[in-house]
Amino acid sequence: MDLTLSPNEQAFADELRGWLADNHPGEEPAGDEAAWQFRLDWQRRLHERGYAGLSWPEEYGGRGATLIEQAIFGEEMARARAPMAANVLGLVMGGPVVIAHGSEEQKRRYLEPILSGEEIWCQGFSEPESGSDLASLKTRAVKDGDEWVVTGQKVWTTFAHHAKWCMLVARTDPDAPKHQGLTYFLMDMDQEAVQVRPLRQITGEAEFNELFIEEARIPDANVVGGVGNGWAVAITTLMHERAGLGAASAASVRIALGQLVELARERGVADDPTVRQRIAALLIESEALRLNAWRGLTQIMKTGVPGPEGSLPKLQWSAVNQGLTELAVAIQGEDGLARDSDWTYRFLRARANSIEGGTTEILKNIIAERVLGLPRLR
Ligand SMILES: Cc1cc2nc3c(=O)[nH]c(=O)nc-3n(C[C@H](O)[C@H](O)[C@H](O)COP(=O)(O)OP(=O)(O)OC[C@H]3O[C@@H](n4cnc5c(N)ncnc54)[C@H](O)[C@@H]3O)c2cc1C
Repeated sequence: MDLTLSPNEQAFADELRGWLADNHPGEEPAGDEAAWQFRLDWQRRLHERGYAGLSWPEEYGGRGATLIEQAIFGEEMARARAPMAANVLGLVMGGPVVIAHGSEEQKRRYLEPILSGEEIWCQGFSEPESGSDLASLKTRAVKDGDEWVVTGQKVWTTFAHHAKWCMLVARTDPDAPKHQGLTYFLMDMDQEAVQVRPLRQITGEAEFNELFIEEARIPDANVVGGVGNGWAVAITTLMHERAGLGAASAASVRIALGQLVELARERGVADDPTVRQRIAALLIESEALRLNAWRGLTQIMKTGVPGPEGSLPKLQWSAVNQGLTELAVAIQGEDGLARDSDWTYRFLRARANSIEGGTTEILKNIIAERVLGLPRLR
């Protein structure tokens, strides 16, 4: 892949950089609710300027931008340390899945409110006994006239407490082989039958939730990709999740590494050979991550969909981010134990990086089997 930007891409990057310099909303406020409102407001501004859903087709409210422009966008946002948009699951996964598998009616109904942040999305995949082995999930959906009746439990459902729509995978045919009996639904969260209970994380935030679903109703029109085809649609979702996590992450770890070097200087350890070696190793890894993220992008440009290669940057990002936050906390010594330090927060949040969006072990299996073509163990 040619990594030099074309004149058009350079112009796009310059325009975006200028806009970010004038419109950066500043630091995110503390507190779950204040931070949420801040992210919602930021998403509205991105949308007004045409920066939400950049590579989505123009007819559905996107900008029809190329994937290179989408990658430039991710890098510039990370470079400017711009906040996250509120509807991150809708933008990164929900919209692309509806574009790939949804009917024309579904595209017209769901895409625009994702971009504006009017309707927030969450992802109801994991269950208490089904995480990595997603196809073993037990949530059941039974047909009743032109509706489905859904009963089960989901867990780790990020932003379910804000969400209007849930990308829900449920078992519709208990007699079919486990990957074939699944269907992908868009479930309306605004119903009594869906109870959301927050889970508090090690950082003190409550980003995710348990979902208790007791005979929730989903119209047949909200099936995405056809009954019994839920596994294929779920895989598209996960590929987009991993590609999304990988793409902007190279720029953000680069910035974090710069801050780590500053910290090492401030604390007088920049000449310590062990610290220098660890920083150099992280820098090399982050460069490999950047190149792998571009490699994943090349693959998407060739095939139109993210493939298993997207697992590699996600895996590398979690390792580099955990490594650099660990080193920062170690350099801070006992100050690193203070809970209100920014580095301590980042260190604690990074613990989840090797679990969310597929664990490191699972990603290694995918890379071994589906990218390198090594024999399957199971
Ligand atoms: C911050 C965060 C946000 C999340 N948000 C969501 C969300 O919005 N929606 C959602 O549906 N889920 C979400 N998840 C859940 C996440 O996808 C799962 O935690 C993840 O898939 C792992 O599943 P599990 O927790 O059940 O662990 P398990 O699958 O039980 O795994 C336990 C351990 O066993 C290892 N393991 C399992 N199988 C194998 C194997 N075949 N080979 C080698 N090792 C193996 C795993 O790597 C892990 O170390 C989130 C998780 C986190 C941390």
